[in-house]
Amino acid sequence: MSERVYNFNPGPSTLPLAVLQQAQAELLDYKGTGMSVMELSHRSKEFETIVHHAEALFKKLAGVGDEFRVLFLQGGASLQFALVPLNFLSAGASADYIITGGFAQKAFEEAQKTGRARVAATTAADNFRRLPSPQEISLSPDAAYVHMTSNNTLYGTQWHSYPETGNVPLIADMSSDIFCRPFETGRFSLIYAGAQKNLGPAGVTVVLIRKSLLEKVPQTLPAMLRYDLHAANDSLYNTPPSFSLYMLDLVLRWIQEQGGLAAMARHNEEKAAYIYRAIDQSGGFYAGHAAKEDRSLMNVTFRLPSEELEKAFLAGAASRRLIGLKGHRSVGGLRASVYNAMSKEGCLSLADFMEEFRRRNG
Ligand SMILES: *Cc1c(COP(=O)(O)O)cnc(C)c1O
Repeated sequence: MSERVYNFNPGPSTLPLAVLQQAQAELLDYKGTGMSVMELSHRSKEFETIVHHAEALFKKLAGVGDEFRVLFLQGGASLQFALVPLNFLSAGASADYIITGGFAQKAFEEAQKTGRARVAATTAADNFRRLPSPQEISLSPDAAYVHMTSNNTLYGTQWHSYPETGNVPLIADMSSDIFCRPFETGRFSLIYAGAQKNLGPAGVTVVLIRKSLLEKVPQTLPAMLRYDLHAANDSLYNTPPSFSLYMLDLVLRWIQEQGGLAAMARHNEEKAAYIYRAIDQSGGFYAGHAAKEDRSLMNVTFRLPSEELEKAFLAGAASRRLIGLKGHRSVGGLRASVYNAMSKEGCLSLADFMEEFRRRNG
């Protein structure tokens, strides 16, 4: 496997090697069907088994029971920005948005097209290097829901304890940190995530939704935009992204084999610590973007003393097969995305390179 790189891309991103190998082994003949999963009818018994298994295993890993459904949809997390208000922001109601980054802002803007959305808190003035404190969040007790982003992919911040919303349903975009550690699933009414960061390849979006919410969906919405319709059809209302869904099921199985979310947490904390240590022990050569208490386990953002050094760093890293480290243009600098599938060796290798680069250039 010497030709594989350490891939720190923010998404689509690295996948577990074991998953890719299993997909490769099954590519031409899926379980004796004589065809690829890509060629199976989505109405076949084999494919229905995949969908049902993925839903059951997702719920098991999330630690939820029959009060939830899992939907596998298309359109990415970006379509969820619109579907959440279309389904749950009725006329006359208002929803609260906590703005902690670029994707949170986009979700808010989509909601404003549908109904009334208000900013409950924002850390834009600090270029999203931190999350709002509980005192800074002003929630309305009769909001239709509160929307938050659990991990801010571009800025490298992550909520380590979620806001208290009382009886108001809490909805979260968890695209970039879902299943990176155990979390209080019961606190949420709906969570969504594009698969291409922590769950599989691009093309499928997971929605975990409380059944009680499905009853609130307006029957006047176009069919493809209705959560209740997708739930009633077990995500098979129309042709699903079948290969992506199959891959997602393999990734869920891999998470379970690793020991579930508790094992993911240990793995991710150790990995992130290597890189944060290289930042913190650099005497200021590397400057982290995120406030320490809000640092993400998934996206580590940092700057070097100059853009020239950042360019040299990227080139040097690439020559060590460390790929995808350029930061998002809204932050600049560098970003190491270290999702579940990134190995400990990859993070150690990056930390070693950071140390060496600092000694040569600091
Ligand atoms: C990547 C990302 C998105 C966008 O996802 P798409 O699937 O490309 O629409 C939204 N929210 C967060 C937090 C992300 O990391």
